[in-house]
Amino acid sequence: MSGIDDLPPLRQVIATHGLSARKALGQNFLLDLNLTAKIARQAGDLRQSDVLEIGPGPGGLTRGLLAEGARRVLAVEKDARCLPALAEIATAYPGRLEVLNADALEIDPLTHLAPPVRIVANLPYNVGTELLTRWLDPPDWPPFWTSLTLMFQKEVAQRIVAQPGSKAYGRLAVLAQWRSDARIVMELPPEAFTPPPKIRSAVVHLTARETPRCPARAATLFALTARAFGQRRKMLRASLKPMHPAIEDVLTGVGIAPTRRAEELSLEEFCALARALDTARDG
Ligand code: SAM
Repeated sequence: MSGIDDLPPLRQVIATHGLSARKALGQNFLLDLNLTAKIARQAGDLRQSDVLEIGPGPGGLTRGLLAEGARRVLAVEKDARCLPALAEIATAYPGRLEVLNADALEIDPLTHLAPPVRIVANLPYNVGTELLTRWLDPPDWPPFWTSLTLMFQKEVAQRIVAQPGSKAYGRLAVLAQWRSDARIVMELPPEAFTPPPKIRSAVVHLTARETPRCPARAATLFALTARAFGQRRKMLRASLKPMHPAIEDVLTGVGIAPTRRAEELSLEEFCALARALDTARDG
């Protein structure tokens, strides 16, 4: 029976299985196993967790996760060409790796995994942002995941951790920081990937908070931030007008000048405004 020591180097895996990178699938692979182990360690102690990995590709990060002791890994990969390479890893780690040939946007991971679940991914950036937005807005809170460790374009990573008043501050920062603690844990140059992308990348680690940083109804906060940042250069009295006919009174009622703009508002102010909107509508 083969073991982990028999797994070939990733360059060889790619050559053997003909895994030429496909641009349409955002394929920029990590082939340095020291680097993938380092990323896996950013996800925290994996020994007591199931891990959902999205987009394993040839399996560099998958190997890192298993070597770091993940209890079980569910790896969801859209490209069927990667399956034989991933099957070799599954053989080397009996009973610990399940591979699903599917689109990550279409699956329900909870039918395969047991909590606590940590999510780790080096994904194409468009899919990554879409999934992050979904993971930040589950039907219930706390969510099914305890942490997210995700590779993004550096600029997107900066938007997730941005503070009010900065250019990067927007809806993603508010939604990410409302119910999780988010920080950038690694930065990677293009040369870390094969083929190298045009942009720099960064790994963001988010841990789900038991309770939100400030109380608000999720649906209201999500709608409010969509309106406010949808027209981020406009004053709030204009951008939020569709949310309430007397929006100026609602704003001043919570101490926010109607002439302010979305990018200046703190998370606490967004929460206060969301609560005031709910009260104004119910009352
Ligand atoms: N994790 C590998 C690594 O670090 O070397 C591969 C990373 S590569 C940036 C992104 C991977 O996500 C590719 O293997 C690609 O086929 C896969 N992928 C792209 N879109 C996907 C989707 N919607 N669902 C699942 N996998 C997807």
